[in-house]
Amino acid sequence: FRSPQTSLQPLSRRGAAGRPLDYATGWPQKFPAKDHCSRCGLCETTFVSRVKDACALLPETGMSRMHDLEVKVHGRSRNTHHAMDTADEGRFGVLHEEMKLVKGVGMNDSQWTGVVTSIALSMLEAKKVDAVVCIAGEQDSWATPEAIVAKSAEQILRGRGVKPSLAPSLKVLDEIKEDRSIRKLLFCGVGCSVQAFRAIQDDLDLDEVYVLGTNCVDNSPTPKAAENFVRVGLGLKDIEEVKGYEFMQDFRVHAKTSDGYLTKPYFCLPGVIAKPSIATSCLACFDYTNGLADVVVGYMGAPLDSGRRMDESFQTLTIRNQKGADMIETTRKRGLLSIGPTATGKGSFEDFALSTLKSDAIVQSMIGGSIMEKGLPDWLGTMLAFLLQRIGPTGINFARYSIDYHILRNYMHVVGEWGETSAKKFVPAYAQKIIKKYLEKDSMTNLLSQI
Ligand code: SF4
Ligand code: SF4
Repeated sequence: FRSPQTSLQPLSRRGAAGRPLDYATGWPQKFPAKDHCSRCGLCETTFVSRVKDACALLPETGMSRMHDLEVKVHGRSRNTHHAMDTADEGRFGVLHEEMKLVKGVGMNDSQWTGVVTSIALSMLEAKKVDAVVCIAGEQDSWATPEAIVAKSAEQILRGRGVKPSLAPSLKVLDEIKEDRSIRKLLFCGVGCSVQAFRAIQDDLDLDEVYVLGTNCVDNSPTPKAAENFVRVGLGLKDIEEVKGYEFMQDFRVHAKTSDGYLTKPYFCLPGVIAKPSIATSCLACFDYTNGLADVVVGYMGAPLDSGRRMDESFQTLTIRNQKGADMIETTRKRGLLSIGPTATGKGSFEDFALSTLKSDAIVQSMIGGSIMEKGLPDWLGTMLAFLLQRIGPTGINFARYSIDYHILRNYMHVVGEWGETSAKKFVPAYAQKIIKKYLEKDSMTNLLSQI
């Protein structure tokens, strides 16, 4: 589900002639992907020369490269014909083993239980890598993420509490290339950054590269948009009051605040804040599950027991190859991970995905429909959330529902933006297969015809 986040950083880089280029007022129009730029950071480095091969959000090419990159990184592309017992590769990407539930151990003050921080810390302390590229809160705030090259535990711990968000992870590429003390690197990032990183990683001339990814969807375009969501959506006056928030499986937004914890049913959020809270890049994204990372930490498929907080709940662990398995083993041996059971789920999800799509405020804005100014009253939203928790998909099936809804909504977006022919060139084959299945239903073809 949606995780609106803040993202904008002051932009500047050196141009080909060595002159600093200031994009502070030029984003997104001065970036090759224009409105669809996710500010992954590549274009703020000399690697901007590789943007055509690397950018995940350029119209026509964009995410269609996923198939070839999966072969390059994992030795094979995802198998969209074969479904494992608990998860299918078409939705979740290449699986080295079944997806598991996981918690971090002893990582207080994390956004969740600290799984990502535990892995990064273990890799550095076990000397498997010389440095870790991660996102730290600028001035220690989760709301303003910046990329850092961490070489000490203290620096890695600065990343605790930072949510997956639009953040210029690749902005440090030149720093890595110039620093010859870095031979082995761990890169942490969201799907679009990982796609660009994979495309240029050989140019960094490193001896060993590991990639740790997070699930990611619907991030906020600007700090102002995130602030607006916190104020109008959650009813809090100050963004600093919120330490983190997420859309969870119990159909509620969960928010950690400076003096407590609150939850609010999705249905009580005003429809009018949906679109401004999401970056345009994320409306064109088909890599929710970060298909090119060696190992991925997420939350969408993890069950949430009634009344539990996000920072005491399980997350999901997706290991895509042997490197990913080694990273997890290194962390487990250091006692920083508690691996739970295989991720499972129940409940049908396809009809659920379609009904969400039909009533969705963003889809309504695409087809000129009506958008609710206000959310449902609290009592009704609470009742609905309670009911859906009982009849809706849970566990890994909730993830399937969420993936399908986002793929369908984003397909409508790219068709609306670029037309059907260009959209098909952009959308990866695995997502096209899912779309095709839904297009067999009249309600989906009807919706698409209104674009
Ligand atoms: Fe450049 Fe990254 Fe934006 Fe693409 S998404 S235009 S590579 S900064
Ligand atoms: Fe990037 Fe996609 Fe995440 Fe948006 S949803 S930040 S485009 S990986």
